[in-house]
Amino acid sequence: MTEPRLTIVEHPLVQHKLSYLRDKDTPTVHFRKLANEITLLLTYEATKDMPTEAAEIETPLARMTAQRISGKKVAVCPVLRAGMGMLDGVLSLVSSARVGFIGLYRDEETLQPVEYYVKLPADIAKRDVILLDPMLATGNSTAAAVSLVKDAGASSIRLIALIAAPEGLANILEHHPDVRIVVAGVDRGLNEKGYIVPGLGDAGDRLYGTK
Ligand code: URA
Repeated sequence: MTEPRLTIVEHPLVQHKLSYLRDKDTPTVHFRKLANEITLLLTYEATKDMPTEAAEIETPLARMTAQRISGKKVAVCPVLRAGMGMLDGVLSLVSSARVGFIGLYRDEETLQPVEYYVKLPADIAKRDVILLDPMLATGNSTAAAVSLVKDAGASSIRLIALIAAPEGLANILEHHPDVRIVVAGVDRGLNEKGYIVPGLGDAGDRLYGTK
């Protein structure tokens, strides 16, 4: 797939860790650690176009001109609950980021996402948003989360997912063409229950041991 708004990170470390994340025999304790480690590596990729500016500094040996990030500050927004399993991975690289929370559930009759908890940084409009949703399946809840941060004024939005289905990618690229997407893998598709295949199962259950 050649799509400039989509980055699939094929780095061996990411793919190695993803293979263990997918494995049904990987226990919760390792799954949690792997999800954060992969997210950290995806964050490195997702932030590579952040602008920098020259800063005059002094090392113990000499004065020099160094580069520092100059753009907007970051707001990282996990989509509850599974997105929480990626949060520490971002914060370990971007420690000054503010955090917004987006809680959505799927109405079983309309099949549409419904908000149940939203708390975003007040100045989100001035920030670069990194949205965290580990499984980009149909893309409906992720698209709703993107709309929500846009309604709050955000205009620079990156989405980090661990695994995407082609259906979910198409959904976001069609409805939110300004969003840049970074993922560790793109899988075959969705099963009849909306799970990504081969995927890794239910990310929330695997993170929190609820099944
Ligand atoms: N959510 C998950 O946790 N897993 C999937 O495969 C799809 C959606």
